[in-house]
Amino acid sequence: MNKYKLLTPGPLTTTSSVKEEMLLDRCTWDNDYKSITQKIRTQLLELAGASPEDYTTVLMQGSGTFAVEAVMNSTISDQDKVLIITNGAYGERIVKMAKYIGLAYREYSTAYDEYPNEEEIRHLLKEDEDITHIVMVHCETTTGILNPIEMVSKLSKEFEKTLIIDAMSSFGGMEINVPELGIDYLISSANKCIQGVPGFGFVIARLEKLMACEGNSRSLSFDLYDQWKEMDKDGKWRFTSPTHVVAAFSKALDELDEEGGIPARSARYQNNNRIVRERLNKIGFQAYLPEEKQSPIITTILFPNDQFEFEHFYSFVKERGYVLYPGKLTNENTFRIGNIGEIYEEDIKELCTIIESYLGVKE
Ligand SMILES: *Cc1c(COP(=O)(O)O)cnc(C)c1O
Repeated sequence: MNKYKLLTPGPLTTTSSVKEEMLLDRCTWDNDYKSITQKIRTQLLELAGASPEDYTTVLMQGSGTFAVEAVMNSTISDQDKVLIITNGAYGERIVKMAKYIGLAYREYSTAYDEYPNEEEIRHLLKEDEDITHIVMVHCETTTGILNPIEMVSKLSKEFEKTLIIDAMSSFGGMEINVPELGIDYLISSANKCIQGVPGFGFVIARLEKLMACEGNSRSLSFDLYDQWKEMDKDGKWRFTSPTHVVAAFSKALDELDEEGGIPARSARYQNNNRIVRERLNKIGFQAYLPEEKQSPIITTILFPNDQFEFEHFYSFVKERGYVLYPGKLTNENTFRIGNIGEIYEEDIKELCTIIESYLGVKE
């Protein structure tokens, strides 16, 4: 069905059966449709290891960024202050949001290939007692670095802060136990590791915290509290919902379960990542990150030499069936290979063979 497969971190390659779900038109206020929404909300809680007594799921129209902005805008009040931990473009986007909304915030940033430092964050939290919330990106898709969620979780518990995690590119592809980690708001979207198509994001929210957010929002459309109140009644979305996308997502959730859940999917992604790193390394490509910082989601690769032209390379690979992703670093020449989506070992091996032939090397 596809002319080429996407090796990009969302939108990504989906199954034909997920796409087929979109061939039907559905009515937003009909019970059949509303029950799909409710089922999705329950399944997402299960994937997060969360119970419906303590947590709820809010779905939000738009791309993933819209869901992050809804959280920032609705859960942080004018009396609060947020510590934003950044080491990539998605963390920096959250800083931008804070500026637009007019939030009191403090940014703590490290180099793109560095983890945030526990002692430095501890120092910040001790020194600035106004801080009420902490936000961090889990897998920074800019580079593929997997940020230390346990460390930030520990500090957040110790200092009793509200913890917001952008797990956009990791949720569904890696195990994240939301209650155990003390995460109050976890954000992800339809078109990443659950392998749906783009059109909405979702928030796994601690009920006790969300219930206290009434009236915080500075915007009508981005009011997470209102969105939840309406949706929680019977599964009807506030405003038009992306019906085709929601149906496809429901199918994608069932297929995740059939694959063996998050452990099986995570193992498949890790295997994809391992093969890319190993095979490309043999022919002179170096990964930007050392193995221990590498997530199974996406791999950033440095250009092998000064003569390397990404455009030419990209077209060569695309003509042979795979679409790569350009780099997002300003100080290094890189490209990226997404390991997620309906992509298997055979695909990755074929890709590596194509890249080898581009360079004129034979295995
Ligand atoms: C994909 C992604 C987002 C959201 O991007 P959209 O283009 O708005 O869907 C946010 N954070 C991270 C870490 C991501 O990978």
